[in-house]
Amino acid sequence: MSDVIVVGAGAAGLSAARELVAAGKDVLVLEARDRVGGRLLNERLPGSDEVVEVGGQWLGPGQDRALALIAELGLKTFPTYDGGDKIAEFGSKLTRYSSRIPKISPLALIDIAQAQLRLDKDARRIPLDKPWEAPHAAELDRRTFAEWLDRRTCTRTGRAFFQLMTEAVWAADPGDMSALWAQFYIHSGGGLDSLLNTRGGAQQDRVVGGTQLIATTMADALEDRVRTGMPVSEIRWDPQRGSEAGALSATVVAAGKEFRAAHVVVAVPPPLVSRIRFTPPLPAVRSQLLQRLPMGWTIKVNVVYDEPFWRAKGLSGQANSISRSLGTVFDNTPPSGAPGVLVGFLEGRHVQTAARLSPADRRRLVLDDLAAYFGADARDAVGYIERDWAAEEYTGGCYGAFATPMTLTRFGPELRRPVGPLRWAGTETATRWAGYIDGAIESGRRVTAEILAETGP
Ligand SMILES: Cc1cc2nc3c(=O)[nH]c(=O)nc-3n(C[C@H](O)[C@H](O)[C@H](O)COP(=O)(O)OP(=O)(O)OC[C@H]3O[C@@H](n4cnc5c(N)ncnc54)[C@H](O)[C@@H]3O)c2cc1C
Repeated sequence: MSDVIVVGAGAAGLSAARELVAAGKDVLVLEARDRVGGRLLNERLPGSDEVVEVGGQWLGPGQDRALALIAELGLKTFPTYDGGDKIAEFGSKLTRYSSRIPKISPLALIDIAQAQLRLDKDARRIPLDKPWEAPHAAELDRRTFAEWLDRRTCTRTGRAFFQLMTEAVWAADPGDMSALWAQFYIHSGGGLDSLLNTRGGAQQDRVVGGTQLIATTMADALEDRVRTGMPVSEIRWDPQRGSEAGALSATVVAAGKEFRAAHVVVAVPPPLVSRIRFTPPLPAVRSQLLQRLPMGWTIKVNVVYDEPFWRAKGLSGQANSISRSLGTVFDNTPPSGAPGVLVGFLEGRHVQTAARLSPADRRRLVLDDLAAYFGADARDAVGYIERDWAAEEYTGGCYGAFATPMTLTRFGPELRRPVGPLRWAGTETATRWAGYIDGAIESGRRVTAEILAETGP
């Protein structure tokens, strides 16, 4: 018998457990996989003691909770390699540029700049804790982000830029999501530049030893309170009880065993909540909400070289293209400087096609794009690591879930609303940096505060 059972040992579930234990609660974390970290996962580089992340990895300014937690756990960060020129393809040819802005036509530049200005201005008006109460929320939520962009841009390059931007930030198509959700998310991450930039933005820093260390270090300190290999299949909850201190009001079934607690924190991606059987069933409004929060989709690819050969050519390893399958690429070399690693993402339109290829053809496609960006040396890969998060039983896609049109205004208030003894965590429930590691940590702290407010420490 526990005070709290946490379902899911990702950044959200583990930070909730860590805070609850610090407040004196008896906590049990049940994790379906045989490892902790969820969307945070390190993989060892071939022939090396170094690792790369195949899931979430970057941190940046404004992600105060994640940065503070990293420091508390005794971990260190290092800057993403950002020296040298960048490559961009926003028209018919690849160009190399050293300034902040790629070489594109002045008309397209003005088009992008004015749309970004408008987007940032509108986004700032969305209340982070209640986006559904934004001015014009109903009108915005009825539209897809694609419709909003079509009205605000007038050049082909401008539209293509925002298509690429959406694929890179959400791993989704602008036609998939509500314009209200897109603007909420932009505000939640501090504006478009903050979401897109390396230096000064969300891609600025990395964790020495890989970001999964955030999860494994928390789990180590929680000792045997964390049980892996425990997929939760059913939660029986008592709708009459849940707010009295010490009331045992839920039974959680995992791997054929039953566990009882006063509160249950559900810290799994929204679509996976629906795979758990709730007895009695969840309220209709919550069930409706869960049916409208699908996950994005990307295949993340790390390509390994003996050394970061692009640096000697004066290149940063960063490349963007509106037409290639690997539309976004970064230098992902470990802090020691070897081996060299380029990380790229097959997202949006491209993942649909790439996922249907054989692994050998997909690898060829990726190496073709890298060779186009960085020269023929890019074909001399010594390692190739890809991860399709949509194929993961206990994730179902990435980077996170997004809201389809007419979801936030009709069901948004249910996102964090407690149901009896059940509390909802996970990055998708965050107000700041929703979709990011920082947002997952925020959600863990929020559910802790909710439980402590009811029961006392
Ligand atoms: C490829 C990729 C790149 C990303 N890049 C970045 C980045 O650069 N920066 C950034 O900040 N964020 C990034 N993210 C997003 C970031 O990783 C997530 O926001 C964060 O890790 C989510 O944490 P979470 O705890 O909310 O969810 P999760 O990490 O998904 O944790 C949920 C946990 O619940 C478990 N689970 C699921 N179902 C059950 C069940 N029935 N019973 C028990 N356990 C269950 C899962 O196994 C998992 O461990 C990226 C994500 C991916 C996949």
